[in-house]
Parts: sequence; structure tokens; C-alpha cells
Amino acid sequence: MARTDAIVLGAGIVGTSAALHLAKRGLSVALVDRRGPGEETSYGNAGVLEGNTLFAHAFPKGFGALLRIALKQAPEANYHLSALPGLAPWFLAYRSNTRGERAMEFAKAMRPLYARAVAEHEALMAEAGATRYLRREGWLKLYRSDASFAATAREREYAVELGLRHRPLGVDEARALEPSLAPVFSHAVHWPDAASVSNPLAVTNAYAAQLSKLGGVILKGDARTLHRSGGNWRVDTDEGPIDGSQAVIALGPWAPDVLGPLGIRLPLAFKRGYHRHFRSQGNAGLMRPVVDTDYGYCLAPMEQGIRLTTGAEFAHRDAAPTPEQFNRLMPAARALYPLADGIEAQPWLGARPCFADSRPVIGRAPGQPGLWLDYGHAHWGLTLGPASGRLLAEMMTGTTPFCDPTPYAAERFSS
Ligand SMILES: Cc1cc2nc3c(=O)[nH]c(=O)nc-3n(C[C@H](O)[C@H](O)[C@H](O)COP(=O)(O)OP(=O)(O)OC[C@H]3O[C@@H](n4cnc5c(N)ncnc54)[C@H](O)[C@@H]3O)c2cc1C
Repeated sequence: MARTDAIVLGAGIVGTSAALHLAKRGLSVALVDRRGPGEETSYGNAGVLEGNTLFAHAFPKGFGALLRIALKQAPEANYHLSALPGLAPWFLAYRSNTRGERAMEFAKAMRPLYARAVAEHEALMAEAGATRYLRREGWLKLYRSDASFAATAREREYAVELGLRHRPLGVDEARALEPSLAPVFSHAVHWPDAASVSNPLAVTNAYAAQLSKLGGVILKGDARTLHRSGGNWRVDTDEGPIDGSQAVIALGPWAPDVLGPLGIRLPLAFKRGYHRHFRSQGNAGLMRPVVDTDYGYCLAPMEQGIRLTTGAEFAHRDAAPTPEQFNRLMPAARALYPLADGIEAQPWLGARPCFADSRPVIGRAPGQPGLWLDYGHAHWGLTLGPASGRLLAEMMTGTTPFCDPTPYAAERFSS
């Protein structure tokens, strides 16, 4: 029987970062996934490392915005009717969590993690030889109207208060940064301290390779076989069963598959999202990710081409893909940037694992000694993977954590 100090279940950016942080602290670690590292949600994102995040994605405000979504005309959101009844309590909680004082509560609770996010990636990239994927060009948010720019004023005011650098730009100034953009927007904001990566899969793979160098093992196995065996946690892998005195659930959208049978039911919903790569016309290109906020999509320069990622689709996690949002947003995207033909025939689909307060769960699993949780990073799991992994590893090894983990405890849902 193989034994380790810690079994980490899920080799996305979150689990791989946690495993690496545990190995760096001298623990023997087995990282277990049914696929290769980084091949699920952590593959398909927009690659933005957004340490400036202050507020969670807003719930649509006003009757008009809700009606457009209801009529399936909104490019930024889609839904499956069959998923809505089950999501109603989550929507109500999300709505109240993204307004007024509650929105500020999120900003304050999450600031310590976001503030460390880019630096923690930089540290792991330096160790893993992955710095070549890192761009320090920030990202650009575009606003099509005065109204949509004004609607996000609170974010910029709070950023000023906290000293987070950002520069509101006119159209010409924005086009000086990104000359391939057409002047179809009216305002832009450059956030220079955000970073981005040109290949999120390669970054997770580099962290996984670094884990192997430190003696960690990467195994194929089904996390749903997790069970107690004596005083340990045991999981079955292709190499046989493995025991760990501690286990970490870092299964992103699949965490409930393992936690449900253990009696841990936390209110996770899925904001599904799609991407597709496009070639650019002529010599067009982008230096950094650009988000067209009114349409809710992002254009991110990747090694594979320009990756266009969509906003949220509320649907059952495993429901068949319905990439209708592309039809709604492609005219706007083509007007903004000279996209040529698509590279893949079908879009990629992933699911952002999202709690109603948009905070991840990082810490002990309630009622299950030796079991730890690190999932639910929603829109910003690529950004937060290494900072969360460090925090979790510090908690698991009894070191003073770099920030107060209380806001991320699973127990917040039982109070
Ligand atoms: C369209 C889109 C754009 C995004 N853009 C950004 C962005 O720009 N910046 C950012 O920070 N974040 C972004 N995100 C969010 C980010 O991608 C996620 O928050 C993050 O990838 C979650 O990582 P994870 O490791 O928790 O999950 P995952 O990467 O999904 O990892 C979970 C792992 O668990 C494994 N697994 C599942 N079930 C089992 C099982 N039974 N047995 C064994 N293994 C199992 C899976 O194979 C997978 O490898 C975006 C997401 C989407 C969908």
C-alpha cells in the first residue's frame, strides 16, 4: 500500500498549486486526477491574472437588463430553463451579495488573496521555469457607452482608495495601446498591474512538472473512490490504492460529486462559459486581454490564436453545450477586432464553480478530520490558484497563514 502525507484530488490550477505548496513544505504528496493536469476548466479560461478584483460580477440591474436575458437576447448571459427552478435560492443570495454593503464585504474579505495573486504566480513560475508564459501588460476594459462606464465608477473609486493603479483612457489612448481595436467603444480603463498568461494549460503543466521534481507523484484515478481506511484517507488509482493522512478536495466544479456522499453539501452553482480561438486578419494582434464589458466577452491573445471567451451560462453542469451566445456577440466582436476564421469547429465548454458569495472555500471540511477543501473559485480560479494553495498549505502544516482564512471557511454557510 502506497502512503503519502497528503492526497490532492483534482489537478486543475487550484489542486496543482496546492500540491506544489505542500511539497515545497516537505510533505509527500500524491496529485490525483482522472485526466492530465490542467485539462478541464483550467485549460479554457481567458488567462487573466486579475489581482485588482474588487467586486464580484454584478447581478443584472433593472427590468430591461433582466428582460433581455429572459428573452435570450443578452450576449453576456444565457440559461437553460430546466436549470432555473433549482437555482432560484442561489440567485436570490447572489443578488443580495453583490449589492451595497455586501458587495463591499466581498471586496474586503477577498482583498488579501487577490493582493497576493500575481506575486504568488510569479514565484511559482520562476521556480517552475514558466515565466515565458507571463505577460505583464495588464488588461484593458472597454465600455461602449457613457452609461456603462459610469455604472462601474464605484470600482474605480475604491481602487483609488486602495492605491490600485488604473488609467481611464479615451478611445485614441486605448488604441495607442492596442492599435488593432476599432473605435466602436467610448471609454477604456487600463489596469497595468493585472497580468496574463499565453497558455494556461502550459502553466498548470509546468507547476505539475515542478511538483514531480520535488518528489510529488501524479496519478490517474477517480476521486469518487475516496473513503476512510483506518485513520487515513484512501483513493483508488491506476497504480493501485493510495493512502494519505490528509486529503484535499480541489475538484472545481466536480467537488460535489465527492463531498455529497460524505454529507457535505455546500451551495455551489455553475457559470458555464465557452471559448473559441480565431485567427486575426492581416497583421492584427493584441498585446493583452481586452474585455468588452457591455457584451460580456473577452478577447485574449493565446499561443493558439485569439481566444474569445463568453460570459455566464446558467445550466446543469453536464448538460449538452448550447453555445448560443456566440451568435449574439460575434457581430460586436468582429466590429471591435478583425477576427478571421475560427480555428476549432466546435467551441470549448467549461463550468466556473461559484458560491453565491463568490468566495472560494479554503480550509477544513466540516465534520471530516483530515479532509480539506480548496474549490469554488468562480471567475478567478486561475488568478487565485497559487495564493489559495499557499494559504491551504500553511493551514495544513500549522504555519501562520499569510492572511486570515476565516472568510473562506465552509462553516460560513451553516451560520
Ligand atoms: C470561459 C472561462 C473564462 C475564464 N477566465 C478566467 C480568467 O481569465 N482568469 C481567471 O483567473 N479565471 C478564469 N476562469 C475561471 C477559472 O478557469 C476557474 O476558476 C479555474 O480553472 C478553476 O480551477 P480548478 O482547479 O478549481 O478546476 P478545474 O481546472 O476544473 O480542475 C478540477 C479537476 O478535477 C478533475 N476531476 C473532476 N472529477 C474527477 C474525478 N471524479 N476524479 C478525478 N479527477 C476529477 C478534473 O479532471 C479537473 O482536472 C474562467 C473560466 C471560464 C469557464
